Amino acid sequence: MPTRDQGLGDISEFAMLDLGHESRSIRGQSITDSHGRVFRKLRISVTEACQFRCFYCMPHASPPVMRPGHLDAQGFARIAHALVGAGVCDLRVTGGEPTLRPDLDEILIALGEVGGTRLSITSNGQFLPKHFPALHQSGVRTLNISLDSLRPDSFKAITGRRLEPVLEAVHAAVADGFSVKVNCVVSRGRNDDEVHAFAEFAQRTGVEVRFLELMKIGPGAVDHVRDFVSAAEVESRLATGFGWVPLARGVDETAYRIQLEGGGRIGFIASESKPFCGGCSRLRLSVRGELRSCLMRDDRIPLAGLDAQGILRAAGLAFRAKPTERIERVDQAMHQIGG
Ligand code: SAM
Ligand code: SF4
Repeated sequence: MPTRDQGLGDISEFAMLDLGHESRSIRGQSITDSHGRVFRKLRISVTEACQFRCFYCMPHASPPVMRPGHLDAQGFARIAHALVGAGVCDLRVTGGEPTLRPDLDEILIALGEVGGTRLSITSNGQFLPKHFPALHQSGVRTLNISLDSLRPDSFKAITGRRLEPVLEAVHAAVADGFSVKVNCVVSRGRNDDEVHAFAEFAQRTGVEVRFLELMKIGPGAVDHVRDFVSAAEVESRLATGFGWVPLARGVDETAYRIQLEGGGRIGFIASESKPFCGGCSRLRLSVRGELRSCLMRDDRIPLAGLDAQGILRAAGLAFRAKPTERIERVDQAMHQIGG
């Protein structure tokens, strides 16, 4: 699919998709679509910048952390407030790397004050511990920290950065009372031999390890055939050393999870081999205040200047524009979309 710049073209495309009565959203009513999906989760990208250089996301230079037109804490909270009024019950702050925002604490606290929703964050971990007080204050209970390898050399090869600060952040988060999920994108020849080590890590630390399939997004799509390792393959590698029981899965959960015998939880996010578009309950808000219907689509609706009712109407349009089947690939990288 071609990449387009954001702009007025995006509004007209969305507007053409649905101008009927369905596009009206009333505060207090859920936003749904004709496939039975319900808008419940909002991913909020607070920056496109990052200090890491993950080969599948941002292998080269980072864009600036802030630019004119980027939302501030109150801007994010105003949009979140409108959407929580329509049943959104899960806000996740992401990026890029959220901890690069100098006003991250302010953003977290403003989102925490919206109330009525679960709030969480996804981070590469390096600078996360200094935000623990604000994370607690804003009601965050779960941290998702990306950790693609437990070996310093492999971690460096994958992310361009040092493993130690990230491992320290994971341990510090557990010690500080957070529930921690570790995201590990599995790639051939880089970390696919670490499946057992991660399972033992889950057993030892109590963190939930989630194995992610590499998605055909941005740089991750370039050598996808060579790099991709399916969740089924990770499961079969795991089975050579561990037994487990499956855990129940909610209709809009991206991960299917297992409980290891002897302790430890593992999740699998099989976005490529077992896509979950049919139950997807997410929209994505960009740092510029644009609403995106799907990770794999570039179309966005700008929310700037809209009042609460306008935001709900835009969310209705975006939600009903969600694809029902997997789109093959997208040119924009995850740090630009908000993963
Ligand atoms: N910088 C933060 C981090 O890495 O946790 C938050 C943003 S990052 C884009 C969110 C998640 O997306 C990370 O767990 C990362 O590994 C994952 N990700 C990025 N590009 C991906 C790709 N092409 N396929 C699968 N996962 C990807
Ligand atoms: Fe940065 Fe996260 Fe992308 Fe890695 S995956 S480059 S840590 S935004």
